[in-house]
Amino acid sequence: MGMAEQPLVACHDCDLLQREPLLPQGGVARCRRCGATLLRSHPQSTERALAFTLGALFLFVLANVFPIVGLKLSGDFVQTTLLGAAQVMYRNDMRLVAGLVLVTTFVAPLTQMLAMTYLLLPACLGRRPPQARRVFRGMTLIQPWSMLEVFVLGILVALVKLAHLAIVVPGIALWSFGGVMLLMAAATAAFDARDLWTRLEAAR
Ligand SMILES: [Zn+2]
Repeated sequence: MGMAEQPLVACHDCDLLQREPLLPQGGVARCRRCGATLLRSHPQSTERALAFTLGALFLFVLANVFPIVGLKLSGDFVQTTLLGAAQVMYRNDMRLVAGLVLVTTFVAPLTQMLAMTYLLLPACLGRRPPQARRVFRGMTLIQPWSMLEVFVLGILVALVKLAHLAIVVPGIALWSFGGVMLLMAAATAAFDARDLWTRLEAAR
């Protein structure tokens, strides 16, 4: 990302339109006219985003390995994971809901976390992974599907739709899903695309 590609920003105090300056880590950019803070680069944003993402990935595995609902299937009481629940929904003529749950609670968040790790981990080590720009673009495309609200909605829809044939197991999986939500929110808040690209460009 060279200087020529720097996007324009408007000062929120005096509305002066200006090019975003490249910020050093922990630096602050001020408006050229009135001196108001334009942008602030938070120190270690990339390390923090990576730490939160790895934590979220770990909890995501727990959330999908341990059962989250109990079902009565032909007389037997069976506990199953969220993916198992999506399978049950699929078999019970709730194909659309099953697909929605699969995408919003599994495919989209997992893709997002893997893409973040793919970019952030090498960036923290001073390397640039192959196809970084393409992965970043893909991540931006999938972002609307891996937003917190969509994720929560997916889980709620699954639980509500299964209400007549299942009960929620308040165990490790449920708490882990809660943890994934908090950590992904923290990772998104810490993630600073400007800092990431400054590092990836330097690593080239
Ligand atoms: Zn200004």
